[in-house]
Amino acid sequence: MHEWALAESILVAALEAAEKEKLKIITEIKIGIGELQQIEQDIFEFALGEIKKSQGDKLKNVKIKIITEESTLRCKSCEHTWSFSDMKKKLNEDESESIHFIPEVAFVHARCPKCGSPDFEITAGRGVSITQIKGEK
Ligand SMILES: [Zn+2]
Repeated sequence: MHEWALAESILVAALEAAEKEKLKIITEIKIGIGELQQIEQDIFEFALGEIKKSQGDKLKNVKIKIITEESTLRCKSCEHTWSFSDMKKKLNEDESESIHFIPEVAFVHARCPKCGSPDFEITAGRGVSITQIKGEK
């Protein structure tokens, strides 16, 4: 149930940020989810909805927007960067299905499009983060 843990940590972080900014209420939280983050978005949204109810007035009328962030990869040999969605277009259906469930599979199938090296890293679009908080003082 890591969606619940993630949802809780996002809301706790939002409340801490609101505290620092001296916001009385939070009106909007934007959350970015990396393409390569393994998460069931339905469960995550449900968890956010349930947890915010128990967090008091600050989150009572908050709007939560979830944005998918594109993942970027970088070749360690030639420094070339490319996006995960470009890479996905070149995979067959079975491969892209399995990457959806196990992002690490991407590493097995993928090569740098420029030099062919299998040695690359994910530089963006992994993990869950708060991208923006709006509120009223
Ligand atoms: Zn390369």
